[in-house]
Amino acid sequence: MSDSTRVYSYSAVLMGSPILLKLFAHNEPLASRVFRLIKHYEDLLTVNRAQSQVMDINHAAGQHPVVVSAPVYTLIKCAKAASLLPQSTFNFAIGPLVKRWRIGFKGDSVPPADEITQLLTLTNPEQVVLNDDDMSVFLAQPGMEIDLGAIAKGFIADRVRDYLRQEGVEQGLINLGGNVQTLGTPEGGWSIGLKKPFSTSGAMIGTLEIENKSVVTSGVYERFFEQNGHLYHHILDPRTGYPLDNELDSVTIISADSIDGDIWTTLMYGMGVEKGCMALRSRPDIEAIFVTKNKEVVLSSSHLYRFTLLDSDYRLTG
Ligand code: ADP
Ligand code: MG
Ligand code: MG
Repeated sequence: MSDSTRVYSYSAVLMGSPILLKLFAHNEPLASRVFRLIKHYEDLLTVNRAQSQVMDINHAAGQHPVVVSAPVYTLIKCAKAASLLPQSTFNFAIGPLVKRWRIGFKGDSVPPADEITQLLTLTNPEQVVLNDDDMSVFLAQPGMEIDLGAIAKGFIADRVRDYLRQEGVEQGLINLGGNVQTLGTPEGGWSIGLKKPFSTSGAMIGTLEIENKSVVTSGVYERFFEQNGHLYHHILDPRTGYPLDNELDSVTIISADSIDGDIWTTLMYGMGVEKGCMALRSRPDIEAIFVTKNKEVVLSSSHLYRFTLLDSDYRLTG
């Protein structure tokens, strides 16, 4: 391999995930600055610690508005818009239910039905009141909690891409664990593996070749528990309060911005293969790969990338 095509990889653990940065020039100081930038946003947005700007909003629920910084306000505004799309299954006000289910954390179990019904009354995204004048956020009812877990990584991946571009980097890749964002066109394009659901050995169903695109995968296998033979995963249906139930093991979105990938994986979970493909017809800039429980790989279309199937257990359709 000639020196110009040599890839330098830098890794860290942030946001509870292994983070990988790939560059085509050795640049440790730049990698450190990228990881600091990720940590900066994690510190603002996390709901897994007692304090962050988002936790300040949650602690003040039913009491008073909280002024936040510009990037946090912009992200919250975007999350609210996605939550208010017609028939959206994306809901950033779903915090009370996420906390109660504790899926993927110690002590997770199915909550009593009456508790779920009660918590659903605290998840109306309309009751997250935004004020553009002072960039404040107010949760109208005590007990409400916003959770940006389904969108934060996409937002941060885009900020890393912008930062690399601003630093004059022409080719680079950031992987935040499920959210990949890329910059430029290395020789042969970027090759991204599509994870085989529930594989413990890191096996791939296939690969995607992309240029200047984001690839976001959300899978039921990421975080779940089993009770009485039923699998309960971490993407909840805001209409019922239970995990979204459909034919999917995973959804991957290919788009320019990773934030769109993050939002649309959740929307696709709500729609399933057929409705999802239909909805994407009006969005030529966004494409989906569905992996179903009966081992089908369905491409909504594939103008933005090239897919190669590697696993003969799976059938390619669409
Ligand atoms: P992953 O954790 O695999 O990246 P997502 O990007 O879909 O998956 O984010 C899942 C997280 O989003 C959950 O852990 C929870 O914090 C939050 N969440 C769960 N259900 C919803 C929903 N319907 N809308 C918005 N956020 C959700
Ligand atoms: Mg995600
Ligand atoms: Mg998401």
